[in-house]
Amino acid sequence: MIDLHLHTTASDGRLTPAQLVARVAAAGVTTMSVTDHDTVASIAEVTALATPLGIRVVPGIEITAVDSGRDVHMLAYFIDPTNPVLAAFLERQRSLRVSRVRDIGARLAGLGLPVNLDDLFASALERPGSSIGRPQIARALVAAGHVGSVQEAFEKLLGTGQPAFVPRTGPSPADVVHLVHEVGGIASMAHPAVTRRDDLIGPLAEQGLDAIEVYHSDHTPEDEREYLNLAIRHHLAVSGGSDFHGDDGGGKPSGLPGDKRARRSTLGVVALPAEAFATLEARARARQVR
Ligand code: AMP
Ligand code: ZN
Ligand code: FE
Ligand code: FE
Repeated sequence: MIDLHLHTTASDGRLTPAQLVARVAAAGVTTMSVTDHDTVASIAEVTALATPLGIRVVPGIEITAVDSGRDVHMLAYFIDPTNPVLAAFLERQRSLRVSRVRDIGARLAGLGLPVNLDDLFASALERPGSSIGRPQIARALVAAGHVGSVQEAFEKLLGTGQPAFVPRTGPSPADVVHLVHEVGGIASMAHPAVTRRDDLIGPLAEQGLDAIEVYHSDHTPEDEREYLNLAIRHHLAVSGGSDFHGDDGGGKPSGLPGDKRARRSTLGVVALPAEAFATLEARARARQVR
């Protein structure tokens, strides 16, 4: 089983690299990629732990880009985690995240819902190079008793347009595609059925976008068919993975039709077919010899 979308405590996942590797091995994964938000901090440890178990680790990352004030998550694979250009770019991404978390903290305090940001930053410091974001604030809001769940924190406070929402600044998706190529990787637009920016796929394909993430825990079978067709139309490869953040990481399903959030906290349900992975890998090789 191939799972190219996993998170650890280096970003907003709940499992450490060692815990994740144990879970992934138990789920029968044979090829994996840790794609933490704007950090490569877990890749070395995951690779060192998974390789002796016979699990192949593809170096990966999920980079947050911005278009028209909306977040667009861009996955990258076959990157060199030690590349200095990539490292400098990610430092900048993480410092933007820290400022945003401070701004969100100020909003929450203004709303009479203070959270201790120093605790958040202190736990991030325990893992050098780690990134912080809204999920950690959501957990702090739950711990402080301000909301009942992470899901509620997003719905009432942190989500787009909610009272503690702070717009993000950052690179465009096209900037990210170019950066990823510059550092020898390939770029895939993450969970397009969640992002809902199909308008970007054609133009990004012209800019060299390599793939779109067709298989994802939040995608329905209809979404898979739709994006498989889009990939074919734009000559794009296909990526896929669970986007596992740890148990209960995705919140409770709302009961609405198509709400697949329960699957996000499950490993071993969503997988990338081997042929699709072979195509993705061939793309990466073609880019690297260029
Ligand atoms: P940030 O990186 O600060 O923009 O936070 C975005 C992350 O929060 C996403 O990658 C998801 O893991 C998580 N997230 C976004 N929306 C929700 C939601 N409604 N419920 C739970 N987690 C969410
Ligand atoms: Zn996340
Ligand atoms: Fe994402
Ligand atoms: Fe993700």
